[in-house]
Amino acid sequence: MATVDTLVRRVQVAHLPPIDSGHGIARLPAKLMKDMNLSEGDIIEIVGKRSTAARVLGPYTEDAGLDIIRLDGLQRANAGVGSGDYVEVQKATSKPATKVVFAPAQNNVRLHGSSQALKRSFAGRPFCEGDTVATAGHQRVNADMPDNIRQLLNAPAFALQEVRLTVMSTSPKGIVHIDASTQVELLPEFTEKKEGERRADVTYDDLGGMNDTIDALREMVELPLRHPELFQRLGVDPPKGVLLHGPPGTGKTRLARAVANESEAQFFHIAGPEIMGSAYGESEKRLREIFEEAAKAAPSIIFIDEIDSIAPKRGQVTGEAEKRLVAQLLTLMDGLEPRQNLVVIAATNRPEAIDEALRRPGRFDREIVIGVPDDRGRREILGIHTRGMPLGDGVNLDELARRTYGFVGADLAALTREAALEAVRRIMPKLNLAEETIPTEVLDALSVEAHDFENALKR
Ligand code: ADP
Repeated sequence: MATVDTLVRRVQVAHLPPIDSGHGIARLPAKLMKDMNLSEGDIIEIVGKRSTAARVLGPYTEDAGLDIIRLDGLQRANAGVGSGDYVEVQKATSKPATKVVFAPAQNNVRLHGSSQALKRSFAGRPFCEGDTVATAGHQRVNADMPDNIRQLLNAPAFALQEVRLTVMSTSPKGIVHIDASTQVELLPEFTEKKEGERRADVTYDDLGGMNDTIDALREMVELPLRHPELFQRLGVDPPKGVLLHGPPGTGKTRLARAVANESEAQFFHIAGPEIMGSAYGESEKRLREIFEEAAKAAPSIIFIDEIDSIAPKRGQVTGEAEKRLVAQLLTLMDGLEPRQNLVVIAATNRPEAIDEALRRPGRFDREIVIGVPDDRGRREILGIHTRGMPLGDGVNLDELARRTYGFVGADLAALTREAALEAVRRIMPKLNLAEETIPTEVLDALSVEAHDFENALKR
């Protein structure tokens, strides 16, 4: 017989705003918490296609009466769901782990962090094997949080920027947390996930100033990829191709990757200029191969960056090779069947420069303009790139956003990296470079200050 404690409830997933993201918390309806005998700070198991764990907080005031659970992008990936899907939640407990092994969740990241710092960064936070988790900084947590949770979330920074780690293994299995006696191991390099596990290197939470764009792409790409049956039933064909246009560094690549991850689709990246092979027929062959591979791996997204370089207006190209490549791309697009569950997203900053034939119905017949971010967008992007950064009290991101008129996402990312490097330069004299890991006292003292941003702005 079910007791109150084992009550399982189905609830619809919604997006958790950035202020609460990355801490491993979930926001639940007040009524559901009451029904399930949950208090703030309790732990729940969340089951979608996979299962993960979170610490519970009550709903936002504006969510009163809504039957939704708010999860951040990493949690959605960990549970194998997207916004709008349903999960089952159940009250749970977490066991202290005797051992936890982490590895970087991203390619091209080599970590030599101290496991001591890692341990402190994750102290008390519940997770399961296979989860992707983000390291904390001295984060500015939401003002409405109870003190005990605020304490828990104010974990010391592990690095100067947020680092994403995959929980490779835990003992015992199930929901665990790290405590003083846990042995924590950090593998230095990215490890390919097991079959069927979703990559959470980039989610919608990692894009600032793009809410409307994300909504549009969710409808055009994510929905058909996730629920092809819906479209078959309605007898409408989802788009095969979407063209993103906007200046370089505005997040087009990152967006395509996030849509693939959130749709649980495989991601194939074609860099326009790179595919132009030298040998006769080489580029067309490569293009055909990628389309074949993507079809086999479907649901898939093929992302063609700088499409203007492989499909310029045919009237303007002189080379035979370019003409053949455009023709090949058109043939491949025309050959795509709706039920193949494959979408091609192309990006360009010169939409007027691409062959018009590509923009006809059934090819890239949807277009989304990605503009330079406004004040609010820049503020969101700065928030994303300082996530997990130990920021000094004097740092005012609102003001920085106002002062960086004309900056695109890539510029803002570079600015925050530069500011972090300024902070590192300041502590360099205190470091004993012969030592393997940086002592915790030095790490604790490390923070990125307002003047670091000033200096970075001057560079
Ligand atoms: P594009 O494809 O438009 O040239 P990218 O997606 O390659 O731009 O962006 C480059 C980098 O700039 C990203 O990896 C990210 O760090 C940062 N960036 C760009 N736009 C955004 C955004 N809207 N939100 C957060 N970061 C962004």
